[in-house]
Amino acid sequence: MKDKGLYLLLLELETGRTIKAGRLPAKYFQPGFYLYVGRAKSRLKQRIARHLRDRKKIFWHIDYFASKASIREVWTKANYFDECRIVCRILKLIKKARIAQEKFGASDCRCCGHLIYLGTESNLEKLGEKLGLKKIS
Ligand SMILES: [Zn+2]
Repeated sequence: MKDKGLYLLLLELETGRTIKAGRLPAKYFQPGFYLYVGRAKSRLKQRIARHLRDRKKIFWHIDYFASKASIREVWTKANYFDECRIVCRILKLIKKARIAQEKFGASDCRCCGHLIYLGTESNLEKLGEKLGLKKIS
């Protein structure tokens, strides 16, 4: 695996709760599964390892959310960087999927957000196949 590209975190929020991610307004997140799309221009493995660690400095929007949720799966797409396009495709491919919060994880891009609410949907096998993702944990 080339050590750069996109990564997707499947997270489970077991109980609904209000989370304030950095400067975003506080928001109530329903229980269920969430998919976060991020990218690393280098050191992808290190980035993922960091997300999987419990003790770390809170830095990205996803850190606030992940501190309340559990990471269930990690998928990657090596050497690919268009996270916004992947978000759009996921919204089309999974009927019930919707943006969890406007601009979450998307401060420096023009799309509406990189955290997707999946409801009870947690099987990403088909999605992975269609988008050329590789499940790494
Ligand atoms: Zn974006």
